[in-house]
This record gives sequence, structure tokens and C-alpha cells, in this order.
Amino acid sequence: MDQKIIKVIVDTPLWEPLDYLNVPAENLKVGERCLVPVGRRTCVGIVVGFSQTSSFPQDRLKKIIGRIDRLSPLSSNWLRFTKFASKYYLSPWGETAVPSLPKFFRRPPGQRHDSSLNRLRKTNFVLSAPDQELPVLNEEQKYVLDNFVQSKFGVSLLYGITGSGKTEVYLRLIQKVFDKDPEAQILLMVPEINLTPQLVERVAKRFPNHAVGSWNSKMSEGEKAATWLAAHEGRLNILVGTRLSVFASLPKLSMILIDEEHDSSYKALEGVRYSSRDLAIKRAQIENIPILLGSATPSFESFQRALSGDYQLFKMTKRAVQDAHLPELELIDISKDRVKGAALGAQVRDEITKTLEKKEQVLIFLNRRGYAPVVTCNSCGWVSTCPHCSTFAVYHKTTGNLTCHYCGWTTPLPRHCPKCGSVEIVPLGRGTQRVEEEIKELWPDANVMRLDQDSTRRKGSAQEVLESVHQGKVDILLGTQIVAKGHDFKKVSLVVILNSDPVLLSPDFRARERLFSVLMQVSGRAGRGEIPGKVLLQTQYTQDPLFHHLSRQNYSDFATEELNSREKTRLPPFTAQALVIAEGKKINEVLKYLDEVKQAALSLQYPGIHIYSPIPQSIMRIQDIERGQLLLEADSKKVMQEFLAVFAPILFEKMNRFNVYIDVDPLNC
Ligand code: ADP
Ligand code: ZN
Ligand code: ZN
Repeated sequence: MDQKIIKVIVDTPLWEPLDYLNVPAENLKVGERCLVPVGRRTCVGIVVGFSQTSSFPQDRLKKIIGRIDRLSPLSSNWLRFTKFASKYYLSPWGETAVPSLPKFFRRPPGQRHDSSLNRLRKTNFVLSAPDQELPVLNEEQKYVLDNFVQSKFGVSLLYGITGSGKTEVYLRLIQKVFDKDPEAQILLMVPEINLTPQLVERVAKRFPNHAVGSWNSKMSEGEKAATWLAAHEGRLNILVGTRLSVFASLPKLSMILIDEEHDSSYKALEGVRYSSRDLAIKRAQIENIPILLGSATPSFESFQRALSGDYQLFKMTKRAVQDAHLPELELIDISKDRVKGAALGAQVRDEITKTLEKKEQVLIFLNRRGYAPVVTCNSCGWVSTCPHCSTFAVYHKTTGNLTCHYCGWTTPLPRHCPKCGSVEIVPLGRGTQRVEEEIKELWPDANVMRLDQDSTRRKGSAQEVLESVHQGKVDILLGTQIVAKGHDFKKVSLVVILNSDPVLLSPDFRARERLFSVLMQVSGRAGRGEIPGKVLLQTQYTQDPLFHHLSRQNYSDFATEELNSREKTRLPPFTAQALVIAEGKKINEVLKYLDEVKQAALSLQYPGIHIYSPIPQSIMRIQDIERGQLLLEADSKKVMQEFLAVFAPILFEKMNRFNVYIDVDPLNC
């Protein structure tokens, strides 16, 4: 049947698919890419439907230009999925779906398109490696393998301590899928920072007859195109990818695994602000396949749903390698142990010396990159701030500069205080670089390495540092979040944790959840091999229940307690939130505008919705743009979605004067 009108989504901020006059001879199908004129441009769009009529006058409709290539159509499930994401996060369908394709597939193609496609198809994803010996699964692992339902949609949460053998469980589950269908496809999602060549290799080695590819934002466009195409054409069996891999085209998708499901990098912080964990669950539902979320410290959202029975809960409480013991954690009251003007207290110094004497490695963890190496004037109290942002400019000793971490503004450290002229300008607090200096002074013979975003900006340099740690060339490794994640340091027997306290004073209600999670991870770095590990944590707040649970490695009690308090104070996951973010030149105008938005929302008198007052964002100015936010709260995600469906059109009508974004289920508010 000839269909006159063809409906196409393109990467433009339009809420409805565009109508075009079809060219029946092209025989385009739903899910195929095609070329269409948009304004004066030629764009790549995706066909989403046909009809005989259009609400647009037919004589004004443009004709499609034509097909692009003979690639198989994107599946109807994929279209349903991207449409859902678009509705849920209030972002036009075209702007959600089209940019998820690699550039190669969404650019108007040149003449050599087909030969380029054939070249892409030559990429080899199969690694034939010698078979390795498989470990014998322990009881806890076996239980997961035997009870995980593989045949249909269901969400399972695998709560297993670090080193309990979760990755081994993922590999066995994948094996089971292949046993049933060797052509099946599996998506293994990992946080950006965990997507190491070692992990991909571990997966590839286990499945030497299957094609394994990885997917992340740092890949070249060519690599992305080749991987996407192999996945789309069913030639790729396992895709190991970061958050954007949730949008990959996987026509034979049979299972989704999400490692470190609590990790905040699964949430996009710009553009369409989606949670790829939440979307992956929806995708599994649409495909009617199982999904497993794994973590040593599940997000409270997921843990709550496991407790309430929505998710099946699996627990793994023992380390898989027999001789590896859980490290002992000792809290050190820094107010009693302080060495004046120094970061390391007396006891910590003692223990480090002893560890080094035994020729074992020490890991020192600072809770945040560049934590307060802000420069201050000892005479008048001036502090180094960025002139463009409402943040502190941070001192970097290696460059001798003050740098703003938000906009990148940089200036040489002034010799005199810009306010009073005094020469007494000193760093406040201790960044990684300052602690590094202290360590080098205390143990001049030790080989000290630092691992943070500053020292690893070069591609691959983190790998080099980690390599030399593994080879035992490093005595003391000093670092931020990067060292916490998934690295298996066999010779580290002492972990020292500094700088946790500022987090306890944070106004962010998720700060404690995150701190516990990162500290559990860091503690897990001790005693991975045969050497028993020890963790020392310096704090002023030794009585805080967080540290109490941490020292017992008791995530479950910690989470239960914190969830109780969230329920009492009506915070997520017991409520749902959304943020309206607006930006402009002057914060006062932005706030005034947001107040108009608030009044419009109030006038709807929607039940179960609470609307707060507009406030400046905590980092109010970035690159001279000022941001404000309006917090909306609902009794549930469902109520929030229903409200937003009514409210969004009103909001978008008011958008013309300011840049406005909506963040549904925000992680920072
Ligand atoms: P996790 O992902 O929970 O941190 P892994 O799966 O990486 O844990 O396992 C930690 C270590 O224990 C790895 O070296 C792995 O090869 C090993 N391992 C896993 N399961 C077993 C087992 N059943 N028997 C012996 N070693 C195991
Ligand atoms: Zn001064
Ligand atoms: Zn700045």
C-alpha cells in the first residue's frame, strides 16, 4: 500500500515527528535512516511511521530526499525505548534518539559511504586466547546462578562485597545465555572509570569464540562507528560500555548487567539528563529480558526496591579468594592525634613507617580532588575566588597557578595579597599535592606516586601508574576517587583515609550515602592478596554512626538506618524530585523568572505535588552565566510523570527568555 506521508524524527527541538511526502519507490521502512530537508539543511532522520494524512497542509509538505544505505532498520523495541526515554526526561524524541547514533550514521553521507561501511565491517572483535582455568564457584555464587531467572523480564540486585566474585557471576550468567543461544547479545554496563582494557580482556578471554566490544565516550568516531555497526548487525555478542551504551542497537539483546549500579556516572549531567541505570531497566522490560544490578554498596533507590520485594535480592558476603581477609578498620580521633600543621597524625605516621619497613605498599586516599587548596591571606583573610564563577580558584603547585575547576580560568599566584598587599599568602587545607609533599619529607626514600585527575589527564597515564603499583615499584600511592575503583592491588596492606569530615557537613542529602560507598571501596583496596589488610581513618567525628557501620563493613544496617531517616523526612526514594534549571546573565532575573514558573505550576493545583522556592544553584556562576533552580517534589515517580505531562507544555511556552533545562530524578539538588 502506498503511504503518502512519512513521519521522521530528526535531531531538532521539535516535539512531534516531522511529516514529509513519501517517495514510495524508495520503499523505506519504519526504523530506517533517511535524508530529509529541514529548513535549508539536509539532515539524517529516522522513519518512525507512515500515514495517509497530515495535520499539515499537503501542498506545504516537503518531499524526503531518500534512503541512505541498506542498513537493516532499527528495531521497533529500540524505537519504543527511545520514545520512552524522550517522554520520561522531557526531551524531544529526535533529540534523544538521533544523537545516540555515532556521527558516521547521522551525517549526510558522502559518495564513498558504502565502501566506508564495508571497511567498518572488517573490524575484528573476536579474540582467540587460550582457555583459562575456571574457578569453582562458591555456594553464594552458585545460588545466584541457580536462582536468577533468565527467561523473562525481572530486576535482580546482586549486593556483594568487593572481591566476593560478582564479575565471575556476570561471566557465568553470560555463559548460560550463550549455552542457550550462541548468537545472543549481552550488554554489560560499567562506570566510565571502570572500563579498563583489563576488564574487556577478562571478558574477551572468557569467550574466545564470541565477539566482544567496548563502548565509551573517549573512543574515536571510527571505533564508535565500527562497534555500533557490529552491534546493530548482530555480529557483536558482548558490549561492555558506559552509560551511553544503553542506547546501542542490539537486535538480539538477551540480558543486561550493570556493574557498580550505584555509580553516579550512570546519570548524564547535561543534554538529556537520563539515568542509564533506570533506562536500562525500562529497556529490559520492553525486550522482556532479565537485568542484574550489581554493587558492593547499592544505591538506596535500588536497595529500597529490593527490600520492598520489587527486585530479587542476592547477597554475597564473603571474599571469593580463600586467603583474602576483610581488612580491619580503625578510626583515629584526629583531634587527639594531630601533628600541628600537618595532614598526617602521629599514629598514621607510625603505621606507615612500619608498613614500609615490611616492604609492603601503602595507599593514601584523599576524599576529593583538590580539596580546598584554596589560597588565603594570613593578614586580611582574602581567599582566591574565580572572577567568573562563584567558586574558589585552586592552587596548583606544579604550574604555580590558581585555576578555576569549573570554567578553567587561570592566573599566576599573586606575590602580594590583592586586597591588603601582605606577602603572607598560604594554601588553606590540603590538596593531594600538599599531602604528597608532606609524605616526601617524612619518607624521603620511599617511591611516592600520585593518582588524581591532574596527574592522569594524559590518556593512558593512569594505566602506567597503576601498572607500576602492581609491579611493586611504588611504595606509597596517593590519590583521589580514581584509586578507589576496582583495582586489585595485591601488595597494599595499609590504607589511610584522610579528609572525610567535610562531607559530613554537606547540605546534600546524598552526601552520606556517597561517602559510605567510596570509603567501602577504598577499604576494599587493602588485603586483596595474601597479606592481611588494615585501614586507618582519621576523623573528628568518631561517634558518627556512618563510621561505626563502616568499621563493621555493614552496608545493610547503614542503608536501613539512613532509609528510615529519608522516609521520615520525605526524601527520595520515598518521594520523587525534578529540577527546573534556568540560566541567564543575572541571577535576580533568573530567580524572578523561576518564580513565574512556580506560580504557573501552583495554579495547576495538582495534588501530591510540592513546589519549593527558586534558589541560586550551589555553583551559581559558571563562565559568567548564572543559574537558578526550582525544586519540584511528588509523592512518587508516577505522580511526577503525570504532573510533568501537564506542566511541561506550560513551561516550554515560557522558555523563550532563558535557557531552561529539566532534570528528572536529579542526583544533585
Ligand atoms: P568482584 O567483582 O565482586 O569484586 P571478582 O569477580 O573480580 O569480584 O573476584 C575477585 C577475585 O576472586 C578475582 O581474582 C576472581 O578471579 C576470584 N574469584 C572469583 N570467584 C572465585 C571462586 N569461586 N573461587 C576462586 N576465586 C574466585
Ligand atoms: Zn590580605
Ligand atoms: Zn570559573
